[in-house]
Amino acid sequence: MTIKIGKFIWDITYACPLRCTHCYTESGRRPARTLDRDAAMRVVDVILAARAEKVSISGGEPLSIRWAVEAMKRMHDAGVAVTVFTSGWSMPQKTAVALADAVSSVAVSIDGADAAIHDAIRRRDGAFERGIKALEVLYRVKEERKAAGRNCFTLGIDYTLTRSGAHEADLERFVHSVVARFPNLDFIRFGAVIPSGLAAEPEFEATELLSIQELVDLIEVGRRLAARAGGATNITVTDVRYFLPQPGVSAVDLDILHIEPDGSLRAFPIYEAKVGNVLDQPLDVLWPKVKAWRSDPFVAEKMETIRTMADWASTARILDRLYGSDDDRERIARRGPQVEAYA
Ligand code: SF4
Repeated sequence: MTIKIGKFIWDITYACPLRCTHCYTESGRRPARTLDRDAAMRVVDVILAARAEKVSISGGEPLSIRWAVEAMKRMHDAGVAVTVFTSGWSMPQKTAVALADAVSSVAVSIDGADAAIHDAIRRRDGAFERGIKALEVLYRVKEERKAAGRNCFTLGIDYTLTRSGAHEADLERFVHSVVARFPNLDFIRFGAVIPSGLAAEPEFEATELLSIQELVDLIEVGRRLAARAGGATNITVTDVRYFLPQPGVSAVDLDILHIEPDGSLRAFPIYEAKVGNVLDQPLDVLWPKVKAWRSDPFVAEKMETIRTMADWASTARILDRLYGSDDDRERIARRGPQVEAYA
C-alpha cells in the first residue's frame, strides 16, 4: 500500500495574468509547465492513493486550466477536502457553479484594502475590481444553493499581509466594506507573507516583509476587527509563529507534500528543492528522499536557526540557490528589482 500523506499543496500551473510583487512561484514570468489532462489525472491518482485528507490547489491561476475543475471534483468526490485559491481574475458563472460540486472551499486572494493598494501589489490594473466581482459571482451561487437546501463550498478571502497592505485603518475599512457587501461570507483570513520565491528576495525583505513582532501585533488587530465587525464572517489573523521551527519539533516527518505543475515533488513546501517527479516514481520511493533532504545536517541546521523573518528569507535564498534545479537557478539569477515577464 502507498504511504499515507495527509496534506498536499498542488500548484497546477505557473500561468497567471497577474505579476504580484510577492509571488512565491514567480508565476506569469516563467513557462507555465502545466500538464495535459491525462497526466494531470495521473497526479490525482497519486494523491488519492496516498489517502490525502486535504489538498490545496494553487498556482499560478488554477482556474485558467481547462482540466482544473475535473481534477478537483475527482478528489472532492473521493472525500478529500479540496481548497482552491484564486485571484478571481476570471469567474464565469458556470465556473462558480461547477466549483460548488468540486471543492470544499474557495479562497479569493485579495491583498489590499482597495484598488490602489491591491493593484499596486498585483501589478495589474483592474485586479481588485475583478477579484471583488468574482466574489460576487461565487457568493450568489452559494446563496442560491443554500436557499435550495444544497451544499456548497465555504467562501472567503485570503489576504496576504505585506507592509503596503497591513495598515490597521485600511484593514478596518476593508473588513467593514466586505462584511457590508457579503454579510454571509464565511471567512476573511489575514496571513503573513511568507519569505518564499520573490518574497524572499532582499529588496522585498527590506520593503515589504513584516517582522514577527509586527505580525504578532496584527493578531490583536484581527481580534479588534472581528469584534467590531460582529456578524457571520470568521475574521482571523494567522499566527506566523506556527510556521517557524519549534524547539524539539522536527520537520522531517511533517505530513505535507508540495507538487509543482509538471509533477515535480518538492522536498519541503516553499523551497525549490526537488526530489523527483510523482509521474515517474511512486511516493513510496520519493518519500524517503523527502525525509533524507529534510534531515540533511546542513538543511536541518539552516531551518532550525530561523528566529526572525530576515533569517527565514536568508534561509530560503540559500536553499533555493543550492538545491533548485538548473532551470530554477537560472531563473533566480535573472531576478532583480524588475523581474521581466515572459512574452
Ligand atoms: S501571487 Fe498568485 S495571483 Fe499573484 S502572480 Fe503569483 S500566482 Fe499570480
